[in-house]
Amino acid sequence: MQSVSPELIFRGIDAWEKALPEITKITKNPLILGRSHNTYHLRDKIFRDLKNNNLNADFANLHFDCCYEDISRIKSIISKNFNDSVISVGGGKVLDAGKYIAECLDIPCITVPLSASTCAGWTALSNIYTKNGQFIKDVSLRSCPKILVYDHKFIQTAPSRTLASGIADALAKWYESSLTSATIDDGLVQQAIQISRVLRDQLLINGESAFKHQFENNPSWRNTIEACGLTAGLVGGIGGEKCRTAAAHAIHNSITQIITPNKFLHGEIVGVGLLLQLRLEEMKNKNKLADQSIKQLLELMKNLNLPTNISQLGIDVFKNQNLDKLAEFTCRDKSEIHFLPFEISKKDIVELIANFEEQKIKI
Ligand SMILES: [Zn+2]
Repeated sequence: MQSVSPELIFRGIDAWEKALPEITKITKNPLILGRSHNTYHLRDKIFRDLKNNNLNADFANLHFDCCYEDISRIKSIISKNFNDSVISVGGGKVLDAGKYIAECLDIPCITVPLSASTCAGWTALSNIYTKNGQFIKDVSLRSCPKILVYDHKFIQTAPSRTLASGIADALAKWYESSLTSATIDDGLVQQAIQISRVLRDQLLINGESAFKHQFENNPSWRNTIEACGLTAGLVGGIGGEKCRTAAAHAIHNSITQIITPNKFLHGEIVGVGLLLQLRLEEMKNKNKLADQSIKQLLELMKNLNLPTNISQLGIDVFKNQNLDKLAEFTCRDKSEIHFLPFEISKKDIVELIANFEEQKIKI
């Protein structure tokens, strides 16, 4: 069984207004799930619009990440209120939590992304973290959200940092899936990988202009936010489980294990993981093209103000046995690193990261 996409997708400057009549058909008493104080005014607008359409909406906020503590607390709020749907309004963590909770309770989920930072508004997948933001696992869901509302006027209010993060995460689709799934003899998977290549090209062409000019009337911005929030999700939907992530996400997951005072966004960490993955390909697979890709990506990432090494994520890998911790988690049994077409040991990861961090200035 494969769920390729949300049942209904509304996109554009007035997506929310267009979606409202459809939303009122499937829910009478939704729970609006959010997190950030900065986006409260948008959730409040959504609440008032629902009320004007005679819906009885309630609010709840995540206190942490998409973690089991918040998930069980929100589940009991929903049971107490008799909410008949979840409207997840926010970034990736809020969207993931809403999808997961709705599936557990067998009620529909409506996703309203407030930034282009991930494709979580589309996918049938939730990443679960600890309260402190350490990655635990990803959970495959039975289906994509019932309705996805990709409203450009909401996304336009997001900080440009979220767009840069979304670009890095979407770029990883091509570099990871073409490496892990190139040998798969399944037309749909091959086509999904090809879409991720076109997606990468579009981001290389439009990404910087989109980042510097976040205006609805800028076609680069419109194309880029839709590439990050929609096309990246479509690749996952068509490719399914076989169109897998690889080292970039495995390294992301291990970096989240080290708690730092400043939190970084998912795609910001994935971007660093992506550079490390390419270095690994060069090291283990003698892939000369990987070095060219690093140079090409580094230029874009610097122009997008993205971190390009682990120390810029606030972690000194040479302290507190961090190198060992990163290698241990990256190479654990269930890690995506083992989807790579070559064997990887902890020693490889220690060597990779140590060399990468030492040479970071020269790159
Ligand atoms: Zn990702």
